[in-house]
Amino acid sequence: MLPDQRQFVIDLDDSGVRASPTTTLDKRYVERLVRQRVHQPVFRARVLSAYGKRCAICTLTYAELLDAAHILPDSDERGLPVVTNGMAMCTIHHRAYDQNFLGVSPDYTVHINERLLADRDGPMLQYGLQAMDGKRLELPSRRDDAPDREHLAERFHAFSV
Ligand SMILES: [Zn+2]
Repeated sequence: MLPDQRQFVIDLDDSGVRASPTTTLDKRYVERLVRQRVHQPVFRARVLSAYGKRCAICTLTYAELLDAAHILPDSDERGLPVVTNGMAMCTIHHRAYDQNFLGVSPDYTVHINERLLADRDGPMLQYGLQAMDGKRLELPSRRDDAPDREHLAERFHAFSV
């Protein structure tokens, strides 16, 4: 079974984990999952704050519609929940980034997948996605909070192939 198909019942008030993982790998997976759940709200708050509560792609400022997107995912050992491994994105751009419909190159340029660029659909595709191609990423006000270029490069490779 693939790790992302597994499900565990987790009770954070319990001292342990109810599902009883049988292997070291299982235990590590559960521990990581718990850590992610605990860190997620803090990560989101820090990333949104760094970006002035606006989408790094389209500048949307409705916090209710904003997420903290990971550059290197949680599943990666280096995919830590730190501001430099995140970017504030509205939900549509976050989803597009996770699906590799949208990429961010290490020079902070936004790229839209070629198939999407060639397609015709409604205003969300035209204005929400196609119009973002070639745009410069809206960076955090503090330089130290800017996305890690090496992480972006690695992630951008997945978008480019
Ligand atoms: Zn956006």
